[in-house]
Amino acid sequence: MSRFFSDKFSSLAPYVPGEQPKDMQYIKLNTNESPFPPPKSVVEAARVEAQKAQLYSDPECSLLVEKAAETFGVKKTQLLFTNGSDEILNFAFMAFCDPSTPAVFPDITYGFYKVFAALHGVPYREIPLKEDFSIDYRDYLGVNATVFIANPNAPTGMLLGVREIEEILKSNPDHVVVIDEAYVDFGGESCIPLTQKYDNLLVTQTFSKSRSLAGARLGVGIASENLIADLNVIKYSTNPYNVNRMTMAAGYASLCEAEHFSKTCAVIEKNREYTAKKLKEMGFEVLDSKTNFLFARNEKIGGEELYQKLKERGVLVRHFKAERIKDFNRVSIGTLRQMDIFLENVRQILLEIKQ
Ligand code: PMP
Repeated sequence: MSRFFSDKFSSLAPYVPGEQPKDMQYIKLNTNESPFPPPKSVVEAARVEAQKAQLYSDPECSLLVEKAAETFGVKKTQLLFTNGSDEILNFAFMAFCDPSTPAVFPDITYGFYKVFAALHGVPYREIPLKEDFSIDYRDYLGVNATVFIANPNAPTGMLLGVREIEEILKSNPDHVVVIDEAYVDFGGESCIPLTQKYDNLLVTQTFSKSRSLAGARLGVGIASENLIADLNVIKYSTNPYNVNRMTMAAGYASLCEAEHFSKTCAVIEKNREYTAKKLKEMGFEVLDSKTNFLFARNEKIGGEELYQKLKERGVLVRHFKAERIKDFNRVSIGTLRQMDIFLENVRQILLEIKQ
């Protein structure tokens, strides 16, 4: 830290992204990316736009917004595109939280919420998940705070029903409820339709997972017009050109690829169920996932040990050190071939430790 760094950030613990080691070729199942490249039309759209990269991008993302409004069944004024969904979440912490409006979120959830809260000096309260790692919606009724819920949750993968979320919305009419739907396309049900009914709901989604565009950085917020207007104040006060030309064109082309989208999501869901079944056969407890990852533990081996042994064998998964989940590993769902290699390595490791 230099002597120039602002005191207000000196104790900030930044978010730690999943590792990207370069020492060897890994089967990378640690950051919930899609194993499939984006469709050709998406790559081509980005290539064409790159030829106009000397010009700023459209700050209103007009064409993309028009296509997204049609896709999501909302008005154009109910949408805001951002540089990944991390950016819309950051905007939400800025726009809807302050020292007198704290944030609440589960104790086990997306690690960035805590970081955003600390970054913006927002007090927060973590609500423990139930013993079975599910969210009890009743814990969020009338909480007098801005609510952040990843649904499905991460890293558990577990889904909360839209009806329960509606109860949370109803009981917090004077506070914003943010539903982070980064993983909703793998078997979850979206809350987007509720944005027509509740002016306190912000739904966030990403193109990083189900649309194979993690490296392009595209996220979107869907909410009532007034919430989007607030978020636009933040956007135009930080980075008006937050979505670059290539990404904007890729996002548009991606929304035009409805069939490719549903097919690849279905493959991931199928591979997930296959992997969960095989893991259970090997004695793992596997949480019920509606995402592109599994969260699993096995009493025969510690979470960290399994993570290390898999890494030595060229398979990367994600391990979290937090006490409640230290026995687990989070495994992104890849191609069937990747999952078979992962499963075979797990099998060998379990055999090894038995001897
Ligand atoms: N929400 C959740 C729950 C996530 O796991 C992630 C991915 N790390 C994000 C949001 C942010 O994803 P992105 O910025 O790539 O859209």
